[in-house]
Amino acid sequence: MTILVSGGAGFIGGNFVLDWLELQEETIVNLDKLTYAGNLDTLKGLKGNNRHVFTHGDIGDRELVGDLLSMHRPRAVINFAAESHVDRSIHGPGDFIQTNIVGTFNLLESVRGYWDGLPEGEKQAFRFLHVSTDEVYGTLSKDDAPFNELNRYEPNSPYSASKAASDHLVRAWHHTYGLPVLTTNCSNNYGPYHFPEKLIPLVILNALSGKSLPIYGDGQQIRDWLYVRDHCSAIRRVLEAGAVGETYNVGGWNEKPNLDVVHTICAILDELRPKADGGRYGDQITFVKDRPGHDRRYAIDARKLERELGWKPRETFETGIRKTIEWYLQNQDWVRNVTSGAYREWVGKQYEVE
Ligand code: NAD
Repeated sequence: MTILVSGGAGFIGGNFVLDWLELQEETIVNLDKLTYAGNLDTLKGLKGNNRHVFTHGDIGDRELVGDLLSMHRPRAVINFAAESHVDRSIHGPGDFIQTNIVGTFNLLESVRGYWDGLPEGEKQAFRFLHVSTDEVYGTLSKDDAPFNELNRYEPNSPYSASKAASDHLVRAWHHTYGLPVLTTNCSNNYGPYHFPEKLIPLVILNALSGKSLPIYGDGQQIRDWLYVRDHCSAIRRVLEAGAVGETYNVGGWNEKPNLDVVHTICAILDELRPKADGGRYGDQITFVKDRPGHDRRYAIDARKLERELGWKPRETFETGIRKTIEWYLQNQDWVRNVTSGAYREWVGKQYEVE
């Protein structure tokens, strides 16, 4: 048996592919466009593994996707491919509309064509799992209950709006054409192989190289953190047992203000890699101008997934963040390879020091 994933050279998709090949017997076909966020270095340990079939291409390329589907006959497609960085979506929303909305539409059409032609038994068993975000629900104030699956969609950034649109397309392809879909909406992920434009890897790497640790606004924005491998286990569980047409919120009940996250990272680094000059990493914190439309709080209510499918995360924030920091300390080659000149130029543009 085979599954096809899109975006499997990115952060979550890459972790998912590595886990899958370790835990399952099935082959995985990996379609990725290799944008700046896609990195084959993440998968280099799979060289020679004939259960991993990599194809360089776009989810929006119907001919290519159609060929891949008819050649490999997967029993499921998991869509990780997306433009995923909120700040980039503010500077240039076009790519987000193209991949997240138009790309998902084209992928759904390719998959529908394939699924329509399957024999009845395989048709019934087939699943299209769409990986999405809690950001589609908008923002919460301090006393609001965490987002559950019944919350209204109220996206505030071009990124979250494009993901919301893709979720709606997936839903419609189920209700209109009967495509057996599942959708997961997950909170913020962190862990190994995370591209260092996002808060946690950026802070680890800037701290180690003596640079400033940029905090947007007052740093009191709250995010709900989940270790990436726990997100992968949730996706496997939903794929295996989720009810067709349903959505599942995925989260680890780990709400933290950004500033606390940064202080935690600094404290662990002080312990694991003390500074030669006896200083503290926390002294590198610098407050920068807040991002426009910055959501104040996200929090996920994952009880449906826990109750109906028996899923639970393995890591707490404290264990997961330590593992992540240790991984970055031990994998400086991976970091060097992804932090090219283009990366440095972008990070310079992203943060305006106040
Ligand atoms: P990422 O940016 O690290 O990786 C995205 C991958 O998709 C890259 O490998 C990129 O090359 C590929 N890609 C982009 N456009 C493509 C296209 N048109 N065709 C084929 N491949 C393409 O993203 P991520 O953080 O791994 O997120 C994966 C998915 O999970 C996204 O859909 C994102 O919205 C969702 N998500 C992310 C988080 C998070 O905290 N990172 C949380 C919840 C949900």
